[in-house]
Amino acid sequence: MKHDHVVNTPGSSRTLEHIHDDERAAIAQDQKVQAPEPKVLFHLAWCKNCRICVDFCPTHALEMDARDYPYLAYPDKCTECGMCEVRCPDFVITVSNSKLKF
Ligand code: SF4
Ligand code: SF4
Repeated sequence: MKHDHVVNTPGSSRTLEHIHDDERAAIAQDQKVQAPEPKVLFHLAWCKNCRICVDFCPTHALEMDARDYPYLAYPDKCTECGMCEVRCPDFVITVSNSKLKF
């Protein structure tokens, strides 16, 4: 849809369509320089090392580290299904874009 609203700034002839283009370019630039948001976040202070999350991950994306805490060992395998977040009995895990959130 064509936007033909004029920006309400004295002397400006830019339209909303142009502003939106500028914003899109700025967002794209930001996304190039910012690190991607982690898919899976762990509040490890609450973790009791039960490894339920690791065992229930359907794509085997999680592993236990040398201290016996879970971490996302294979980010490319994670489908953000949300199973680890749901299965963890201690609310340690947050999946950024969980498919199980509603
Ligand atoms: S299921 Fe929760 S408490 Fe158990 S190891 Fe995973 S993060 Fe820790
Ligand atoms: S969100 Fe799903 S695929 Fe990703 S680590 Fe958790 S259980 Fe595995």
